[in-house]
Amino acid sequence: MMRKFCNAWQRENHIEIDRAFKDSMAPYIEGPLADKIGLEKDKGEKKFLTIENYVHMQTFLWEQDFHDYVHEGVRTDYTNLFNIHCFTSARLSELCQAYYNPMFHLLANIISSGAYPELSTVEQSLAIRPPENTQFRIIASTDAAKQKPVFPQWNSSGRKDEHRNPTSWANQFYSWGVRTGLAEGVSVHCIRREALIKANDNGYSIGQVLKFASQRNTSVLVHHYLSNITTIDGTGSFLGMNCRVDLAEHFRSATMKYNPDLIQSIPASEKTKLENSEEYVSISEQIQNIKVQISKLASGEDYTHLRLQIKAEQMKLRDLREKRLRQLQMSQPITYESIKSPHELNDKQRSQYHRIKHMLPKERIRLAGMMTKSLVPRSEEWVSALQDLVTLRTTNSGVAFQEPLRPVDGHCVCGKLMKNLPLKNQWPHSYMCHKENYKRKYGFAKFCFLCSEWVISEREWEGHCLTHIEKRDIPFRCDPVTFRYGTACAGYCPVHLQNESLPARLRLKQYRLKQNWEDHIALCLASYIANSNSFLCPHMLCEFACNSRDDFEHHLDESHGIELKLVTKKSQNPRKRKLNSEKEIFITKSAMDFSRQSATPIKNADDFDNLEYTSTLMCEEFVANTNSLSKVYKGSMDIEEDIDMADSIDPALYQETTDSTTVVQISELNSDSNIGNASSSDVIYEVRRIIARWKSRREILYLVEWGTGGTSWQPADDIFDQEMIDDFERIYEGFQEGISVLDTRTKNGKVEYYIEFLDYIGSKKDAKWWVPESTMHPDLRIKGSNVEKKRAKRRKMFHY
Ligand SMILES: [Zn+2]
Ligand SMILES: [Zn+2]
Ligand SMILES: [Zn+2]
Ligand SMILES: [Zn+2]
Repeated sequence: MMRKFCNAWQRENHIEIDRAFKDSMAPYIEGPLADKIGLEKDKGEKKFLTIENYVHMQTFLWEQDFHDYVHEGVRTDYTNLFNIHCFTSARLSELCQAYYNPMFHLLANIISSGAYPELSTVEQSLAIRPPENTQFRIIASTDAAKQKPVFPQWNSSGRKDEHRNPTSWANQFYSWGVRTGLAEGVSVHCIRREALIKANDNGYSIGQVLKFASQRNTSVLVHHYLSNITTIDGTGSFLGMNCRVDLAEHFRSATMKYNPDLIQSIPASEKTKLENSEEYVSISEQIQNIKVQISKLASGEDYTHLRLQIKAEQMKLRDLREKRLRQLQMSQPITYESIKSPHELNDKQRSQYHRIKHMLPKERIRLAGMMTKSLVPRSEEWVSALQDLVTLRTTNSGVAFQEPLRPVDGHCVCGKLMKNLPLKNQWPHSYMCHKENYKRKYGFAKFCFLCSEWVISEREWEGHCLTHIEKRDIPFRCDPVTFRYGTACAGYCPVHLQNESLPARLRLKQYRLKQNWEDHIALCLASYIANSNSFLCPHMLCEFACNSRDDFEHHLDESHGIELKLVTKKSQNPRKRKLNSEKEIFITKSAMDFSRQSATPIKNADDFDNLEYTSTLMCEEFVANTNSLSKVYKGSMDIEEDIDMADSIDPALYQETTDSTTVVQISELNSDSNIGNASSSDVIYEVRRIIARWKSRREILYLVEWGTGGTSWQPADDIFDQEMIDDFERIYEGFQEGISVLDTRTKNGKVEYYIEFLDYIGSKKDAKWWVPESTMHPDLRIKGSNVEKKRAKRRKMFHY
């Protein structure tokens, strides 16, 4: 504390505090002053991070860490920083070399930094030799590089020019420790203590150790860093044997309280308790209140202020959750014999790595296997691992892909340069492009999210699903997982999975979008619960049974990733559902309209006639065409995957449901989900320009002209080029370009225009709207002095 204060003060005031003063303060505060004012002297147990702990942490970082790092290069920095803390404090490196070559990661850092022109590639660096008859070679860095941090901050596209903040490193080191299983966390002091003890044990004099530790005060060294446990082998000394030096190491290691089974997320039952606690409830209510206030405001200072307030309240909730998790971790008994297979892990966080690791770049996977091997410098394996590290640090890791979907040399199968697409669209784009490709070739394409494999015939797909089920190679956790904008795992339905009367492809139906999965699960599990007397877990691989609904829900949440309460609540909120569905119709429509060239012919359109759209649309002309919309929709969408909701709901399930409201819900959800599913075709197309804008109560649509010709409406959210929108908004005054006025009429004293969108993609009916005068360009408005003149002129144009 004293040192921290002194350092901060020095930095702030640019005056150096006298060493003697600094050195004398700490012992004074902790000695006489503490006695005088009654300071708490007990500083808790001293902790020592031994090699055993070091190995756990480093191995974990590369082999199991489920934390979603902003960039894969960050890991190398962590390893480096950790090593540096060890090696600059003591000779720990020598002992660590068997596992980790200390220069290895540092070299990757140096090469990828671009700071040394002579070391810009792995080959170049390895080819460098000292000049004849000398032992070393001085390598110059570029001037520009001197301004660049050795340990930078990162974002998803790579290194930033700012330094990593020491406090942030300390915090991240701490969390890394907790994730590894060090229940009470770690600090760099734990490393320093161990390092100094090692130096002491290795036969260095106390003077040397003091110097190494940058300490002047023997008492501080002895009391704060060296262990209370004597490291002398008493037996060996007395009997004149070879003395052991590692006697006390295990005792020191034990101070870190390593728990291989440390929980990383709050168990469901505890979560419920927490969420019902007074404090939590009152904060949640506060958030709800602010949200109501916000909904009344459109913008302005108050609006921003309220948004910040919500954020602050949400932080409070997060802190409560974190605090509770810490408490639970600290009180958790240490269990050593708990070797579980990934699917048996109840802990959401801990199982996360196994669910996303197939999405990691192949370099990263290879490195995970390398870390515990002792590699001989310059050996083939060593060089390739070094190359992998450099690649990881220099590649953008904003988006994750399964191997078959990964762009080759940055290009999609369609030839498009991936980096030109917004991050969130890269995975869907690649997925859809591959799918289209296979479909064109084979007429069928399904991607199995369990094996990351394309299956290209219907029969094969049924067989594929059957094999999964028969081998019981099915996911234990059923929720879909998105990792770095890519769908890492699809969602599955445990009720359907166990239903042997269904074809395998329906039992193993994959839900790529969370919303659809939630809708289905809410429905399916509700009927399941209604129809079973006991709470027996429906999952094939699970034998859980209990008598209370609460326990059952906790189990589903914890083991299968199904938050039943949340799921049902969400789907019972009709207003929200409706909003979504309306928006999605537009996305669907435009996306489909545009992909008309690659549309697959309708195989059995009759199957879908029972699907009805009940949502009201904001524009009457659209309402009129709802039917034609759904036809377009049927025609061009991926029928098998995205519209087989109707058959995927077991008819038996809803016939047996007595509650009529549930039945209504079924049909509603059913159609909504189909619409939702359709938006999964997030294919990106080039927009040439924006022609017009339509503002509804809920959103803004733009009439765009596509790069390949034709126009259609797009929601603002789907146009990624904000600049294009801004440019358009600067000059837009109303409908003028790309339209022609067909007719006018007066309704309730207001003039309306019947306009047609030229080159409109989609149904002819959709292309013609009645619009109010306010939406027309002033030049085209007939109101005012020359109303009749213009009207006459227009009549002439269109009617003669
Ligand atoms: Zn593509
Ligand atoms: Zn598979
Ligand atoms: Zn189901
Ligand atoms: Zn279960």
